[in-house]
Amino acid sequence: MLNVLFVASEAYPFAKSGGLGDVLGALPKSFPENVDARVIIPFYSTIPEKLRQEIKPLHHFQVWMSDTLHYCGLLTCQYEGVTFYFIDNEAFFKRPSLYGYYDDGERFCFFCRAVLDSLPLLDFKPDIIHCNDWQTAAIPYLLKHQYRMSFPKTKTVFTIHNIKYQGVYGFHDISHYLHLGFLPSDLEFYGKINLMKGALYASDLITTVSPTYAKELKDPYYGEALDGVIRQLDHQVVGIINGIDESVYDPHTDPALFVPYDLNIKKADNKKALQKYLGLPIRSDIPMVSMITRLVEQKGLDLVANVIHEILQQELQLIILGTGDFAYEELFRSVAYNYPNKMITIIDFDEALSRKIYAASDFFLMPSKFEPCGISQMIAMRYGAVPIVRETGGLKDTVSYFNENTKKGNGFSFATYNAHDMLFTIQHAVSFYHNFPILFKKLVNNAYTSHFDWKQSADIYLSYYNKLME
Ligand code: ADP
Repeated sequence: MLNVLFVASEAYPFAKSGGLGDVLGALPKSFPENVDARVIIPFYSTIPEKLRQEIKPLHHFQVWMSDTLHYCGLLTCQYEGVTFYFIDNEAFFKRPSLYGYYDDGERFCFFCRAVLDSLPLLDFKPDIIHCNDWQTAAIPYLLKHQYRMSFPKTKTVFTIHNIKYQGVYGFHDISHYLHLGFLPSDLEFYGKINLMKGALYASDLITTVSPTYAKELKDPYYGEALDGVIRQLDHQVVGIINGIDESVYDPHTDPALFVPYDLNIKKADNKKALQKYLGLPIRSDIPMVSMITRLVEQKGLDLVANVIHEILQQELQLIILGTGDFAYEELFRSVAYNYPNKMITIIDFDEALSRKIYAASDFFLMPSKFEPCGISQMIAMRYGAVPIVRETGGLKDTVSYFNENTKKGNGFSFATYNAHDMLFTIQHAVSFYHNFPILFKKLVNNAYTSHFDWKQSADIYLSYYNKLME
């Protein structure tokens, strides 16, 4: 039996702000029976009440950080066959949001120390600690440099879900939480501490979430100033594509939908019901284009903003669901106000509404500047919405341009990060919808039957874990 402990700052359905949560909710349960994969996350006060009732206390102990002892509760529950652990401290995790606080560095240094200090209390000895993104990046560093005596054989894997967020803090802001007397070169980043850099050097294996993103990370355009480190550690970096949990995202059974459906039968009913719900004209002959996204620069929103009026000149309906940068929230809200029959903007994070939109849409727009993997385009396809994407990262690995002759391909795409290239692709998609209904049906079917099952990716992770254990 191989024991793997996944450490992360979110895991669906307990906590989710984006694709990271989806991954941690799905990957651990996709391994074969000879892997005992467990997950540890913070015990946020935002965990839904129904799930909280299942979570039971296991231990409590004290965590040394700097010159202070902090209370730490350790809790646990079983969910869909996976053991979850939770790190509790109300001062750090009883907050309305997961992130975005002045003391995030301290909060997640505490989490990392608490995870390492909790290990001797578990009836589970991890062979591999699999860390995810900057919030967990102190673990490989601390394990290598401060906890090695306690865990001499434990291997660490670090997955980059997004290199944009690295956990960079002034030396005097967090050095005391890491118990550093000086700034070691493995952590040093332009005079500051970079937690992700420390994890890259300390981990036994580095993975990222698509093969194309693994290549892109070596390029200064994508590497966010860590491209040199990635090039140096190239032999340890692999790209493994994410999947989606096809039991969670299942149009046949999804209780959030207006009408659960099979293949394309009744997809039209969902479109009609959503148009009614949102107050749009009820028209089955007009394509519905949607975006469900964090409203941040990464997602290509400046392209959309640039040509928004040209997009809305076409015969389509545009729905944007998202939260994020205030400037984008305001812009898309005000444009929608001026096009009440064509565009709806909903500034919210709403899981149930997102599924209604995926199910109702004909197209899903995702023109990302960079996209490590992207879960949303896969969910869209699962619900029969055709993706329109920029060819980057995981979007390039999961979406292929529909070829009218061979009838192969599951979406539309463009390569250059340019507003008019995107506009042209949207125009092509919309005219394709209007002019070639039979071919469009074939395209929808191709998208709908594209499988992004986790099993295959879990097997690839397992083969790398096995190599580490040799
Ligand atoms: P990222 O992790 O960069 O945000 P992904 O495409 O990998 O992007 O994953 C985004 C996930 O978050 C998807 O499951 C998507 O449906 C969900 N999501 C994003 N914004 C919202 C929102 N406003 N409401 C509900 N779900 C959202």
